[in-house]
Amino acid sequence: MFNYTPSENCLQNKTILVTGAGSGIGRQAALTYATLGATVILLGKTVEKLESIYDEIVENGYAEPAIIPLDLKGATKQNYIDMASTIANQFGKLDGALFNASMLGELTPYSQIHEQIWHDVIRVNVTAQHLMAQALIPTLLLADNASLVFTSSGVGSKGRAFWGPYSVSKFATEGLMQVIADEYDESTLRVNAINPGATATPMRARAYPAENQEKLSTAEQIMPLYVYLMSDDSKSVTGKVLNAQ
Ligand code: NDP
Repeated sequence: MFNYTPSENCLQNKTILVTGAGSGIGRQAALTYATLGATVILLGKTVEKLESIYDEIVENGYAEPAIIPLDLKGATKQNYIDMASTIANQFGKLDGALFNASMLGELTPYSQIHEQIWHDVIRVNVTAQHLMAQALIPTLLLADNASLVFTSSGVGSKGRAFWGPYSVSKFATEGLMQVIADEYDESTLRVNAINPGATATPMRARAYPAENQEKLSTAEQIMPLYVYLMSDDSKSVTGKVLNAQ
């Protein structure tokens, strides 16, 4: 596991957006950031799931989150621009963004990849990430030190049979991260990607239905890297893909 022990309230006064905050790793990251003092903005597709994590954060007495219900499959450039301006108006800056939401699509032989699934996976996992980053960077640059974190995968640096569109989308995610990191190298914005490693979540269960999830790391166990990249301790780290496990 990535070795980092955060200090209490290390994310105090930070506003952090988490995409895919309703489930799995994103849900745990939002809760962990709130526990460490951040105000979290919860973005996801299913409103009830966002309301559930919102309630959990409020019931525990942490800073009241904001909710942004958005389906990355249908969202337009204008939706992201509007979202960024709402965040700028409400919070004055954005200190961190964890781009965690993604879709697996279908695992199939390469010859049978369905055209629509290809387009959907690329739309959600690549194009949406690009449009969201482009819209949010001006608001991230309003913070003293901002952190943009993408989510890759083991199949984002080595292709794997049957994982076609998802694997290609994660290669693109790492490429996008590197391009933005290099371009903003001299700025207050750092840009990195996390490879979570095998983690017990609904997506993992869909990818490996026969696997015993109890033998995998939990989302809670992989949080040290997620916190490190949002805390000021990672201020000088940019352009990297880091393994959470
Ligand atoms: P989950 O399926 O549990 O969570 C994915 C999240 O993404 C959900 O909150 C989901 O929202 C959201 N999402 C999916 N499609 C859309 C969409 N069109 N618009 C908005 N939100 C959407 O997966 P994990 O927690 O496992 O995955 C988190 C990240 O980690 C992903 O990027 C994944 O690729 C990556 N990863 C995970 C690994 C693992 O072992 N778990 C290993 C390697 C990488 P909703 O629930 O509302 O559908």
